[in-house]
Amino acid sequence: MKKKGKTICIDFDGVLSDYSSGYQGEDVFGDMIKGADSATQILKEKGWTVIIYTTRPVTDALKKWLEDNKISYDYINENPDQPKDSEGSKLMADIYLDDRGMRFNGDWDWTIRDIASFMPWEKKEDEETKKQKMKQAYEEEVKWMKKNNPFVADI
Ligand SMILES: [Mg+2]
Repeated sequence: MKKKGKTICIDFDGVLSDYSSGYQGEDVFGDMIKGADSATQILKEKGWTVIIYTTRPVTDALKKWLEDNKISYDYINENPDQPKDSEGSKLMADIYLDDRGMRFNGDWDWTIRDIASFMPWEKKEDEETKKQKMKQAYEEEVKWMKKNNPFVADI
C-alpha cells in the first residue's frame, strides 16, 4: 500500500516550543513559537503526515502541551508507515524540520565550513549582540585615534 501524501518530521524544542532558555526539565516546555499551530494545520490540510520527532520522552504533559497549543499532528516519535524491518531506526520522512539541522547539498567542503559557523536561530540574538559590541568597540577606537593621532585621516 503506497501512501499518497508526504511525511514531515518536526522537532519539538526550538521549532514548536521556545527553547531560548534551554532544557529545563522533562515536562517543562517553552511557549509555542508563533505560527506553529497554523503551519501544522496547513500541512495536515495539504495531506502531509506530521510526526513530532523529539528527544523528549512522550509524556502526557507533552501531549497536553501539543493539544493546548492546537498543534496538528499524527504521531510522536513513530512512523507506523515505515517498513517493519527498519523499526527502531531513524524515522523515515520526506522532510526533517529542526532548529539544529543543516541541509547537506552534496559538497563536504562547504558543509565543514557551515558546521564550524553553525548557530541555532534562538542563539542568533547573542551573536548579533556580540557583533554590535565589536562594532561599538571599533568605532570608539577610531574616535580615540582621530582625537589622539593627528596623522589618522578620516577612515
Ligand atoms: Mg530542537
